[in-house]
Amino acid sequence: MAKYRKPLCKICRKYGIKLYLKGRRCESDKCAVDPRKGKIRLIKPKKLSEYGMQLREKNKVKIYYGVLERQFKRYFEVAKKHKGVTGEILLQLLERRLDNVIYRANWVYSRKMAKQVINHGNILVNNRKNDRPGYLVGEGDIIQIKPNSRYIKIVKECIEEYKTKARPLWFKVDDENLKIEILRKPTREEVSIPVEEQLIVNLYSK
Ligand code: SF4
Repeated sequence: MAKYRKPLCKICRKYGIKLYLKGRRCESDKCAVDPRKGKIRLIKPKKLSEYGMQLREKNKVKIYYGVLERQFKRYFEVAKKHKGVTGEILLQLLERRLDNVIYRANWVYSRKMAKQVINHGNILVNNRKNDRPGYLVGEGDIIQIKPNSRYIKIVKECIEEYKTKARPLWFKVDDENLKIEILRKPTREEVSIPVEEQLIVNLYSK
């Protein structure tokens, strides 16, 4: 997981969007950035060059998914080899990360926590232990929490606390049996971070 020296909320204020870096606080009224309530204590943006804007979009996505520069570049190289719009494919790849799926299923409070749960060997994919947060889920994958995991209690609490928070439709969650079934790949519209991905493509295509 990438580590940031700056106070985390300051990073969100810099980019003007919620990057969900602080777990429960991000869903609470204490969040410093909440466009729904017209509450955006932004850090005044500097006038940026074309290159500056490209860099900004790339860093925003990198921080949101908690990946390092080297990993991010690898995702881009993979996206470039796929047929289709490279920027969209890049976002779809990031969205399919196992840690992101656990987070978006409302099983944990943050992507950071999702990484921790996975790294500690608590997650099964297709009945086999998977301790790779960056594993890319695919259609038909079944994700479960290990039956004897000490995180079961926290996962249940999180599901209960976030029961009104919408989940994406590209996977199905069985709250009773703590099971996630991947139905298909996410579409661009289902990637919730506001980003101009073409700027990232332009940055890496130089
Ligand atoms: Fe802070 Fe809100 Fe960003 Fe969470 S989403 S890190 S609470 S500003």
